[in-house]
Amino acid sequence: MVSVKRRENTMTLVQYATTTHEQRMLIPLPQVEPRVTIPHQNLRIPGPTPVPPAVLAELARPMINHRGPEFAAILRRVTARLQYIFQTTSPVLTFPASGTGGQECALVNLFSPGEHVVAITIGHFGNRFAQIAERYGLQVSRIAFPWGEAADSAIVETRLHELAPYRGVLLTHNETSTGVTNDIQTLAALIRRHNPDALIVVDAVSSLGCIPLEMDAWEIDVAFTASQKGLMCPPGLMMLAAGPRAWEANAQASLPRFSFDWASVRKALEQGHHPVTPPVSLFYALDLALEMILAEGLEVVFARHQHLGDYVRRHVRAIGLRLLADPAHSSNTVTAVRVPEGIDAKVLLNTLRERDQVVLAGGQEHLSGKILRIAHMGYCEVCDLFTALNCLQVRLQELGFHNGKQIEGGTSRW
Ligand code: PLP
Repeated sequence: MVSVKRRENTMTLVQYATTTHEQRMLIPLPQVEPRVTIPHQNLRIPGPTPVPPAVLAELARPMINHRGPEFAAILRRVTARLQYIFQTTSPVLTFPASGTGGQECALVNLFSPGEHVVAITIGHFGNRFAQIAERYGLQVSRIAFPWGEAADSAIVETRLHELAPYRGVLLTHNETSTGVTNDIQTLAALIRRHNPDALIVVDAVSSLGCIPLEMDAWEIDVAFTASQKGLMCPPGLMMLAAGPRAWEANAQASLPRFSFDWASVRKALEQGHHPVTPPVSLFYALDLALEMILAEGLEVVFARHQHLGDYVRRHVRAIGLRLLADPAHSSNTVTAVRVPEGIDAKVLLNTLRERDQVVLAGGQEHLSGKILRIAHMGYCEVCDLFTALNCLQVRLQELGFHNGKQIEGGTSRW
């Protein structure tokens, strides 16, 4: 007997094995909304970030054999350039994944169930890293700092003494949920002093290619990033670099892994391909994006991000808004701004998107409705931020927020 269940939203569940051709012809086609052209927006969320037109155009290139010589050449170029951007001589592995995949990939390749790791958390993404470690059965101790602050090295040092012994330490370079950058160089040095064998694992998802990170010089064991942030590419690729200590740990680590297995990806990389079918088009895009970053010059890119960060912070303060981050550790890739009392963050964000095509991000977890976030990473210039911030100022004024003060009732036109 055929079982055809109809749902109200017109989706149809069918057991095809017992359905005849005639019966299938009776199943209505899905009724869906028409496709619309994707709008051109001033996209100021912290990923996906805008992609340069030339990089977007790379996505339209024809498919090639992912085990052929053309792909091998791309992989060689991309790997060498990523090594330069990570500042490492170790191989950089690429995976079809997002940033969360990077967190998971690092954990399953380094540790065994029950091992003790310390997670230094300063916000949402640090918490996620710790949660994934717990989900995999690691014993996780957190050194947590208030959202908006960076990890304080003196506190970290004291807590590490209390928490020893531990096998690894999980860190976030740039906490995207709060717009705070940790001083990874100092933190890595103190961890290494305290525990020379510790595995230092750094989430560089919203920092790499924008804020300096020197994997080998700072003795970081693993660092990873994702394509949709500072590297000016669409989402879908994750890149991870592992140093010699990490590879030694990898040989002992017994957490289960398959698609994320470093050893198989490295073996394939040495032969110029990938163990599974890679997102070939994203490699075309990454190939050009990395070329553009290196043509601009890594130091120049860092200086541009410093300038963008300074510009946003100055402009936001000039509007009379307050920043969330401790000024000593403000991020140069994303700025979190406190939403003034009496302003509905959701209304503000929706209006900016609908009326001005300016797309900002809201806050996460307990900061939802309390902050908005303005990204300035990757393919970004001052003029993009100038427009976004002027629109923000105008919309705030319409809501009655003038020069740092909320005026009763506002002058809202919407
Ligand atoms: N880590 C950091 C620092 C991030 O900013 C993000 C995403 O914004 C992630 C991890 C998770 O990345 P994804 O959303 O690509 O899985």
